[in-house]
Amino acid sequence: MGVRGGGWDVRIRQARIVYLGYVPILVYVMAKVAIIGASGNVGRYTALTVSHSPYVSELLLFGRPGKEEVLHGLASDLHDSFAARGSQADVRYSCNEEDLEGSSIVIVTSGVPRKDGQDRNDLAHENARMVSEIASMVGRYAPNAILFIITNPVDVMTAVALKYSGMKPNQVIGLGTHLDSMRLKWYIAKYFDVHVSEVHTRIIGEHGDSMVPLWSATTIGGISIRNLPEFEDLPEQKIMDDVMNAGSNIIPRIGVTFYGPGDAILTIVGTILGNEKRILTISTFIKSEIHNIGDVCIGTPVRLDRSGAKTIAITLSVSEVEGFRKSVDKIRTITQEVLLRLEGD
Ligand code: NAP
Repeated sequence: MGVRGGGWDVRIRQARIVYLGYVPILVYVMAKVAIIGASGNVGRYTALTVSHSPYVSELLLFGRPGKEEVLHGLASDLHDSFAARGSQADVRYSCNEEDLEGSSIVIVTSGVPRKDGQDRNDLAHENARMVSEIASMVGRYAPNAILFIITNPVDVMTAVALKYSGMKPNQVIGLGTHLDSMRLKWYIAKYFDVHVSEVHTRIIGEHGDSMVPLWSATTIGGISIRNLPEFEDLPEQKIMDDVMNAGSNIIPRIGVTFYGPGDAILTIVGTILGNEKRILTISTFIKSEIHNIGDVCIGTPVRLDRSGAKTIAITLSVSEVEGFRKSVDKIRTITQEVLLRLEGD
């Protein structure tokens, strides 16, 4: 089901000129984006944020059979939102796997969320079964898409999706530590009293307790943070506690997190569809590119564009290597347990 929009202003903005020999032709760089788990909290807010990308011409709200009425309602409300802001995109809903065909990006937000007091890894086995089935469906119907996993524990679920989709490593990504990195950037900007765009920083490793801030790669206005006099008094541990506990501070109050993840997801989608080649910290399969540590899906800096993710082989400080190795070992162990249990199911 869907509602079709028109309008040449947006279509011209989305167009690119390419040359066939000497003949210029106009190509529309527009994309279909599917959200699996669109009936949930993260899925429905993601649908709204992603619809703000000028490259999205069709949004597919996908859910499991029996959820048609909910998805219909969400699609209609979203259509009204498009109408109110003059968006030209189409919105459709479906519970039929064939409708995933032609998607450029498939975002997976299906999954049990953690409850107050739970660790993300407590969700691993239950969500792995769900993600494995979804991934093999995406592999069958949208094998050329970028498969983008949000479900927690996101690093482990990215590995499950990679295995069960049969897609290439550059095509399968997870939200990883991107939102954590953005949170750190915000705290640093506040501390140094500068605009957030002046700060470049990263958190790598697990999206969870063993994440590692890269102070060695943190700059303000292009200057290494360690060369600034205020660095001496920077409350590093307090800032990292705030970053790490951000989700745990929200969940007891409202039961879910969705604004932060939804906008972080839009950044990733916009980077891919805009072919921007930005360096973002997301979860992908790393073999041994970083200090010979790898064989796992985990958050590291990658260059992202329409062809997918490419790991950046960064050099870390001694303590960062140690932290990263611990984080990788932890996630590799959980991933192996989860994959073994899935094989036995
Ligand atoms: P939610 O509101 O409970 O929604 C769960 C979604 O999963 C619904 O669409 C639900 O569909 C679907 N689902 C549940 N069981 C299913 C099954 N057996 N088969 C297929 N679909 C099923 O949860 P949420 O708050 O949106 O969170 C969704 C996931 O995102 C969780 O794993 C959460 O931890 C994760 N998350 C990740 C991040 C991150 O930074 N990576 C941030 C926030 C949340 P029905 O409507 O049919 O039940």
